[in-house]
Amino acid sequence: MYFVSTRDTSKTKYSSCDVIRRGISPDGGLFFPEDAVSFTEKELEDIKKAPYAERAAKVLSKYLTDFTYDELLESCDAAYSASHFPVGAAPLRVFGDDSFLELYHGPTCAFKDLALQLMPRLLSLSIEKSGIGGDALILVATSGDTGKAALEGFKDVKRTKIMVFFPNDGVSEIQKKQMLTQKGENVKVVGVTGNFDDCQTGVKTLFNDEKTISAISGKGCFFSSANSINFGRLVPQVAYYVSASLDMAKDGKVCNITVPTGNFGNILAAYMAKKAGLPIGKLICASNSNNVLTDFFNTGVYDRRRDFRVTASPSMDILVSSNLERLIYLVCGAEKTALYMKELKENGVFRLDDADMAVIRNDFAAYFANENECMAEIKRVYTGNDYLIDTHTAVASFCADRYKKETGDKSPMMIVSTASPFKFAPAVCASLGVESGNGFDAVDKLSAFTSLPVPAPINGIRNEKERFSDVISPSSLGDAVIDFA
Ligand SMILES: *Cc1c(COP(=O)(O)O)cnc(C)c1O
Repeated sequence: MYFVSTRDTSKTKYSSCDVIRRGISPDGGLFFPEDAVSFTEKELEDIKKAPYAERAAKVLSKYLTDFTYDELLESCDAAYSASHFPVGAAPLRVFGDDSFLELYHGPTCAFKDLALQLMPRLLSLSIEKSGIGGDALILVATSGDTGKAALEGFKDVKRTKIMVFFPNDGVSEIQKKQMLTQKGENVKVVGVTGNFDDCQTGVKTLFNDEKTISAISGKGCFFSSANSINFGRLVPQVAYYVSASLDMAKDGKVCNITVPTGNFGNILAAYMAKKAGLPIGKLICASNSNNVLTDFFNTGVYDRRRDFRVTASPSMDILVSSNLERLIYLVCGAEKTALYMKELKENGVFRLDDADMAVIRNDFAAYFANENECMAEIKRVYTGNDYLIDTHTAVASFCADRYKKETGDKSPMMIVSTASPFKFAPAVCASLGVESGNGFDAVDKLSAFTSLPVPAPINGIRNEKERFSDVISPSSLGDAVIDFA
């Protein structure tokens, strides 16, 4: 299997090792498999019989053909062990016909662990296999959860260094504490006086900046990325959709899936699973008040020229959803994709043809929840089902409900649950009418109110010392990177 750039398929083709190591194509596009992947009935039957790590390895082996099945299985076994995921990697919590897919039982209590416990292992293998010298310098722009999950995944992984940039005022207190207390000899965490888009744009620019590349190369490093634009992040996510949709499929019914969406990585993985032949119906793209994607799916116009809102679901506070480029590529082809991305960069807006939008709307619907709706949904689900969800999951739950009411579609619904409610305890407390302060005060009040235990990874950082304190402006990212290398 070879990979091409979403902006030009006629040039170089890349192997899966290359793709994981490079993160982003030299022309600024994103990597995507040249050929469509699909599973046979027999393969799906075999997957269904296997435990989770084996299911994941079987899915990975369809996309990442540079690795032997045994290498993939060994990596998946290590990544999804009970020590990292004590109650399982991707359990379904069933309520009648519908389910929540709980993806937050990993070391950082957010769904990004599913990809980031695995991907560093694949990167290490890729560097070994390529026989290249030097260390991979991982740059991460994070709206909160990726940063911690990447730090945990890469800490002390040999031949890697990791540097994380986060919006200094755009993440929760617990998220910040999780990152600033990170252990490991090869890690660095820096706050940026800007929003997530400033961090992401800064990192994307550095990846293709000749001056910075040569400066870090002089120090024995080359760039790599762990952001969800890296294809190595996507396939482990495809794996849990394959796994969960097979488990949900009953009596020949397909399930719809609602995904709380920010950078469009998680929902794109669901789309890839659908395209590979899994029993999946509609994909509902759920946004918070940064509803640029809702508008896109409903009008065909992607317009980032709007105010950025800080919400109670900060991991979805995004105006440029990078992985949308892969969907556009799959539907419109590379030539149009290159054009649209240029328009987005230069004018902040692009518009798809009606015919292309019609194709997209066969698979996708889109809704958003404002702040009040998100809070009310946490209360509704807790009161109605005695089930506690976080702010991101609440956005999805609200949108799933809206979709059902508006369309009358009675298919089983899978709602993707992306973070532990304890990670966003102040907002969850407020939604339930529990008075609380910030940080650990809210965590403890939430635990007392619900009688649920505080997850071990959150409890564990309570008394840890913060190791990092740098805060820089968006324009100084380059210098900080060269310094760290
Ligand atoms: C990252 C994140 C999201 C958004 O996922 P994307 O792949 O960026 O769309 C949603 N919820 C939580 C809790 C997250 O950490």
